[in-house]
Amino acid sequence: MMTAAPYLLVALPVPLRRLFHYLAPTPAPAPGSRVRVTFAGRALAGIVIASTDQCDFDANKIKPIDTIIDSQPLLPEPLLAFIRWAADYYHAPLGEALQAALPAALRQGSAAELKNDPSSQLWELTEEGQGLPSGALKRSRRQAELIEKLQQTGVCRWSELKAEGYSREALRALGDKKLIRPAREATSFRGEPPLTLNSEQQCALDAIGLDSFGIYLLDGTTGSGKTEVYLQGIARALANDPQAQALVLVPEIGLTPQTLARFRRRFGPSVCAVHSALNDTERLNNWLRASSGEARVIIGTRSAIFTPLANPALIIVDEEHDGSFKQQDGFRYSARDLAAVRAQKLNIPLLLGTATPSLEALHNARTGRYQHLRLTQRATANPTAPIEVIDSQSAKEHQGLTPEALNAIEQHIGAGNQALVFLNRRGFAPVLQCRDCGHQLNCPHCDAKLTLHRNPYHLHCHHCDFQRPPAKRCESCQSPRLEPLGAGTERSEEYLSQTFSDTPVIRIDRDSTRNKGSLDALIDKVHEGEPCILVGTQMLAKGHHFPKVTLVVILDIDSGLFSADFRGPERMGQLITQVAGRAGRADQPGQVLLQSQHGDHPLLQLLLNQGYGQFAQALLDERELTLMPPLAFLALLRADAPNPGAAMAVLQTARELAETLPSEHQIQILGPLPALMEKRGQRFRYLLQFKALSRRGLSVYLGQLIGLLDQQKITRDTRWAIDIDPQEMS
Ligand code: ADP
Ligand code: ZN
Ligand code: ZN
Repeated sequence: MMTAAPYLLVALPVPLRRLFHYLAPTPAPAPGSRVRVTFAGRALAGIVIASTDQCDFDANKIKPIDTIIDSQPLLPEPLLAFIRWAADYYHAPLGEALQAALPAALRQGSAAELKNDPSSQLWELTEEGQGLPSGALKRSRRQAELIEKLQQTGVCRWSELKAEGYSREALRALGDKKLIRPAREATSFRGEPPLTLNSEQQCALDAIGLDSFGIYLLDGTTGSGKTEVYLQGIARALANDPQAQALVLVPEIGLTPQTLARFRRRFGPSVCAVHSALNDTERLNNWLRASSGEARVIIGTRSAIFTPLANPALIIVDEEHDGSFKQQDGFRYSARDLAAVRAQKLNIPLLLGTATPSLEALHNARTGRYQHLRLTQRATANPTAPIEVIDSQSAKEHQGLTPEALNAIEQHIGAGNQALVFLNRRGFAPVLQCRDCGHQLNCPHCDAKLTLHRNPYHLHCHHCDFQRPPAKRCESCQSPRLEPLGAGTERSEEYLSQTFSDTPVIRIDRDSTRNKGSLDALIDKVHEGEPCILVGTQMLAKGHHFPKVTLVVILDIDSGLFSADFRGPERMGQLITQVAGRAGRADQPGQVLLQSQHGDHPLLQLLLNQGYGQFAQALLDERELTLMPPLAFLALLRADAPNPGAAMAVLQTARELAETLPSEHQIQILGPLPALMEKRGQRFRYLLQFKALSRRGLSVYLGQLIGLLDQQKITRDTRWAIDIDPQEMS
């Protein structure tokens, strides 16, 4: 008989890049199980990674674990291996990576059991309900509608009904009348039939090989029906295998009730959402449903890439270019890039969809690693509208809007349609300036101006959240003549409401949607279809399908042309194309106006005349010349501290250590440099950039460097972190 290894290696949620030894109980819990242990005097839930008989320090000091939480491994072997791969690749402590992968309840050590949650209860019609003649519930409209809905779909989850505004009273009343009853299974679900695909959609769908790994870039114009291809791709995968599951990742602001509803109409209660708006119980339950295989279609944002899946068959990443797939703090991973790794390990296809592919995706398509599928036509009646440039020199008198834009808005709402005004700046005005001495109000903690907000009236730093009442006098010369400069969404909203006083103006930005449900309420209002003017930030840019919007006005994107970040132009091109794509998506043709002071800028001209594809090719050619990603690989070592010298010193040390390391690959080191915003939130920030032509070479090299850095004594209050494949160069 084999003697069991005496130690367990446990990953703990602490920021240390190592595992911890504990004495193994008999029988020892399998890898992937949680155990409760004492660490530095605290009780922590950790995850068993392996058993070992190796221990290179005093074995007498090794403590036993306190309890075993899971009798079965919580994380199946393939998922654990995937998360370990991710932690290695991003040089993150495994304990932190595992934290990111688990819902809060499981992190804290709750039992891995479905918790009672009335909102997940399924409901179906009784025989009596099925036979109910229409008009029978004349006196309670909502009850009649609920019956009708169930007659269409067969079965519904209470959470879904609640999201559609049905009340608990209506549910109870129908239950009391014995017209509906709780259902145990969703077998009676009847999905909406699929649309007939056009030939481009059909070609794309047929190209996807469901039997093995492959990456497909679904490069389709806004409104070309990518979502329909996803839906039918999933339907095929599910039809192939009665247990198959599909995982769909969407950007943070893309997981709207409208999106979910679209998937639910097709796949019913087997659709499970995993996102931050769920409460802990819902998240736990959905995670377990994915793990058990009960959930067939799992839709979530970034962290859903770590969802356990019993029988995965297909992964989809919608809007693959979107920045929100990259986690920007703690465990800094890219869910899109990890999706490729997971699909490969699972030997299943990955579908990346977007109207504006990232240069990474285009490069991979160009080199043949991804199969490039194109949808060039809108699925609906109208082609994407060309973008007309308006010189915005004359916009000053009209709070940022040119007379041409105002005329167009008047025409479109006059014709009974909706107009969308895009402005990527919230608040009332980005700067408050003294008319007498020109002094501008700064944030005391950052190298940044304070934004003036009217509602409520205050000054706000968008970088560190510092807030203060508006100044009555200039800090510098005491003059009372303070003037807001420039316009944010609040100011545009105010101006448009005054100018078009008969038309509702709906502002959609982070401030107007702070409360739970407020975004849905605003979007519902747009969907009612009455003429209105939408004013908003990039929350409006992506994924929404507003059939009545025929005019899009884009204000002030010039900063993208002159950005210090090498990705600035790429992002600008994506944003313009996405926002413009909101116009004319249904039966009325669209019009797009772009206000710019630099309308003749060659990059802008290229985008407007040749389209995003050509524009992106040109950017890619330039990256090839300058050897920037995706033609080279980058990593950033960032350090920050209340004292600039301390942060700089860490990076100096890092650079000196780095220079002593051997590498067969050329590693180019740049810095330490101040971050784009050197001072933020009372901390001074610096970076050291590493660049190499070999991803693997860079990774090995950084692994060694981090090993050395981890041993350095660093002054208290100084933090450093590594960012692999950084998306923000700040
Ligand atoms: P995308 O995801 O590419 O932006 P959507 O999938 O949202 O596009 O499709 C845009 C609109 O076109 C939707 O209203 C959708 O119902 C419709 N649509 C998509 N495919 C078809 C099709 N094959 N036939 C008819 N309408 C379609
Ligand atoms: Zn002054
Ligand atoms: Zn600040």
